[in-house]
Amino acid sequence: MSYPKIIVDLKKLQKNVESVVKHCETEGIFVTGVTKVFCGYPEIAQAYIDGGVKYLGDSRMENLKKMKDLDIEKYMLRLPMISEAKDIVEYADISLNSELATIKAINNAAIEAGKTHKIIFMMDLGDLREGFFSEEEFLNTVEETLKLSNIKIVGIGTNMACYGGIVPEIEHVEKLGYFKDLLKEKFDLDLEIISGGNSATIHLVEKKSTGVINNLRLGETLTIGQEPSYEKRMPNSYDDVFTVEVEIIEVKEKPSYPIGKIGKDAFGNIPTFEDKGVRKRMICAMGKQDIDFGTMFPLDDKIQIFGGSSDHIILDGTDSETDYKVGDKVKFKLEYVAVLRAMTSEYVTKEIIK
Ligand SMILES: *Cc1c(COP(=O)(O)O)cnc(C)c1O
Repeated sequence: MSYPKIIVDLKKLQKNVESVVKHCETEGIFVTGVTKVFCGYPEIAQAYIDGGVKYLGDSRMENLKKMKDLDIEKYMLRLPMISEAKDIVEYADISLNSELATIKAINNAAIEAGKTHKIIFMMDLGDLREGFFSEEEFLNTVEETLKLSNIKIVGIGTNMACYGGIVPEIEHVEKLGYFKDLLKEKFDLDLEIISGGNSATIHLVEKKSTGVINNLRLGETLTIGQEPSYEKRMPNSYDDVFTVEVEIIEVKEKPSYPIGKIGKDAFGNIPTFEDKGVRKRMICAMGKQDIDFGTMFPLDDKIQIFGGSSDHIILDGTDSETDYKVGDKVKFKLEYVAVLRAMTSEYVTKEIIK
């Protein structure tokens, strides 16, 4: 198989899912396994199902389509586009919503398809991405939605730590409890799903502070085995489900400080350099188009990443005990952004190990 290559270890992934699902069960929380980081490859999503998630979720229609034959309910995570209402009804069972016009379009598509579509209302609790900010608008929308024949309101939810980087804490959980009670009081609605957030919220499980929350939508915690708010490792999890192998295309002794007047690099930034003298520089055939340098870590921990460009990674191999040569491969384990880029890039071979 050709290089660069991302390797996905399904056994390790399933183990991570089992651990996290068990952890969440202690607080009565069921897990929606978020598949967008690996572009919804059905073989990989199957490891989520085998590990015990109750739902799958993705933010892209293309990915939901790939997973259409997996026998499990699926969430559309990104607020639907009106223009994709028909596909939403066909490929998602539940969608997250905050706009009445969109909900009406989905209702029309659902009538045409002879289906009932379930929705979760998104509440913005301060992170300032999606969700209702005004309580009045929220209540009006609920009232109007209740008039729609083919829409079923199943829950409320929120998303944090995405745009605003706001860490989910107990006051946010209480706010969801408030909205849950409000809908019961005003409309006699019993909500099945209180969807408390993404991986950034899982730290509340250990603290037993999840209140009314009974669902989390998890990607990072399942794939990387990490809790992102406080960067704690999840118990019994692997951090190397995803690794990448790149091939060395040049090895030379060169200075670590460029020669001449420094202007802009390939991405328009003015680079800075530390002068470490002459080093063994190894160029690999993969670049920023396919990977994120900040979230990839060499398995040989004596190797450092100097930097690179769209198509090249430049490594410092001086301190390694291995005498790397042209044609050798270097392995890295990957965190979230690097996995996302590598899985999305058509220039990266995907190897899925069962
Ligand atoms: C991506 C996404 C998630 C999962 O986020 P992780 O940080 O990977 O757990 C959950 N909810 C929504 C709405 C998302 O877009």
